[in-house]
Amino acid sequence: MRKALRIMRLTLTLALAAAIVGVIWQKLGPRLEDLPDSAVKPKPLDPAFVRLTPREMATLPLATRFDMPLGSEHGAFTYNARAFRIERHLGDDLNGIGGENSDLGDPVYAAGAGRVVYVGNPGPGWGKMILIAHRLPEGDEQGPVVQTMYAHLEQMQVRTGQIVQRGDPIGTVGTAEGAYLAHLHFEVRAGPYVNPGQGYADTALNRIAPETFIRTHNGSAPQVLNPGPQTD
Ligand SMILES: [Zn+2]
Repeated sequence: MRKALRIMRLTLTLALAAAIVGVIWQKLGPRLEDLPDSAVKPKPLDPAFVRLTPREMATLPLATRFDMPLGSEHGAFTYNARAFRIERHLGDDLNGIGGENSDLGDPVYAAGAGRVVYVGNPGPGWGKMILIAHRLPEGDEQGPVVQTMYAHLEQMQVRTGQIVQRGDPIGTVGTAEGAYLAHLHFEVRAGPYVNPGQGYADTALNRIAPETFIRTHNGSAPQVLNPGPQTD
């Protein structure tokens, strides 16, 4: 009997203590609205694990033609300061011909029709980045899906999910928040994996040489273009 009483007293004491702790926690504990956003908002899925679904791929705008994303549509007024695979580089570094920061704030254009699949700032080496997914015409050996990537931007003018047409302004040339002289890091990637990834690697990974890709997808066979001036 006495043992039962002791157990009951102990239980009551514990319950009382728990209630007191609960009240104190409610009064003094962190409030949901006081917590930093990072603790309250659901964390975005790691982009490394995002893959476009078959349906998303099938409904991507068909990109029948690509142009350079900076300067004129053929890339005039720009130069490639560090080309694909030079010093393990996975893209082209496009610059205005004025050099240095002369291209800071210049418009960056969607290289082809597509859907924006990533808009963000994945890290200090990248700065602001946009990824656009494109569906290539059937029979294109680099299809069915490629992505174009635009990094170090100063401004971004599109949202994830937005449909863009070739030549639409999507952002402006930046410095990755002061990390570099202004330039556009531009990549072309094969396949449906949406991942900011890395700008340098020992192998080409899923990257395609951007200038070559644009040249072979700009809609005009070389023999259709006007011949260059003859000098002899
Ligand atoms: Zn680069």
